[in-house]
Amino acid sequence: MNRSVSILVIVKKNMVKYVCKSCKTDCDDITEHMLKVHKFSKWIMDIQLKTNPNTYKNCFETKA
Ligand SMILES: [Zn+2]
Repeated sequence: MNRSVSILVIVKKNMVKYVCKSCKTDCDDITEHMLKVHKFSKWIMDIQLKTNPNTYKNCFETKA
């Protein structure tokens, strides 16, 4: 029982890929982060990402 929990924690830790430069928060999904933390609208993000897929990457640091 505890074993599966600790595996889940390891998986979650490995999923943290980015650090937001504006709020210094770890996240694994830039889109999710912008939606939930910065209250961006999904449709706006869709348009911006279609125009330039790296739009939000500049706002995030990639974790090694
Ligand atoms: Zn942020």
